Amino acid sequence: MQFAVIGNPISHSLSPILHNHAFKMLGIPGFYGRYLLQENQSFYHLRSLHLKGANITVPFKEVAFNSCDEIFGIAREIGAVNTIIFEKGRMLGYNTDALGFYLCIKDLAPKNALIIGAGGSAKAVAHILKQKAICVTLINRSKKRLKDFKNFECFTFDTFTPKNPYDLIINTTPAGLTNSDLPLAKEYLSPLLKKARLAFDLIYGRQTPFLTLAKSINIATSDGKAMLINQAILAFEIFMESQNITFDTKILHQSMQHIL
Ligand code: NDP
Repeated sequence: MQFAVIGNPISHSLSPILHNHAFKMLGIPGFYGRYLLQENQSFYHLRSLHLKGANITVPFKEVAFNSCDEIFGIAREIGAVNTIIFEKGRMLGYNTDALGFYLCIKDLAPKNALIIGAGGSAKAVAHILKQKAICVTLINRSKKRLKDFKNFECFTFDTFTPKNPYDLIINTTPAGLTNSDLPLAKEYLSPLLKKARLAFDLIYGRQTPFLTLAKSINIATSDGKAMLINQAILAFEIFMESQNITFDTKILHQSMQHIL
């Protein structure tokens, strides 16, 4: 029983560590690998790999959405799929990034949130917050991608006029991943952070300038590691359900939470 994460690039992905450790701890005979799909290669090529299911990462989440035979749950609203299963020759799509994110901030019970960025991950975050009746505002450095957020309050950097304090400020941009950039100029970000309750960065594995600034202002911070683990747990559950395999969910949670 084989699964994989599909993306380009893919060598950095931590998903194989999470899923293979879960298989080991649960005593389930499964294997989870990585697959580098070329950008000019057809997504349908994946059908020939004899996988039972897969996770999809950058830059194929929208392609996956458009390639699936059926889409389930919030993935329909988001327009992006990060988990697929192959069933009787059909490809079924789900999105576990959205709920994976929400589970991280649920206890904060925010009334409103400011999302910085308007890419694929911003879509997942915006739609789950909206579904949970949390008021969402987006800000992006350029206009083009904001057209995908017609039902949300949107600003570009030069049109931004914050009306409210935001309980939650989320960086969904890669700013700070490989450089010392903030996702939004400090003169805008600092006053917003001062009034916020949590600064959440989707980037994981490093202390970003965004989180460093939030810490210097003494507000709570979270990086994207818990979201990564949550989306993997939810995907694992979908994979096993498709194979009619039952298991102890407590062991699944423990195995994925303690390996990274
Ligand atoms: P996309 O490429 O789809 O979107 C990137 C967005 O960030 C765009 O809106 C872009 O603006 C903006 N942006 C890019 N660089 C900068 C910058 N230097 N300053 C300000 N804005 C910038 O990326 P994704 O949404 O797929 O991923 C974003 C990040 O989230 C990545 O770092 C990824 O690793 C992380 N991630 C983490 C997950 C987790 O589980 N923790 C899950 C998914 C993603 P413009 O439109 O102007 O180009």
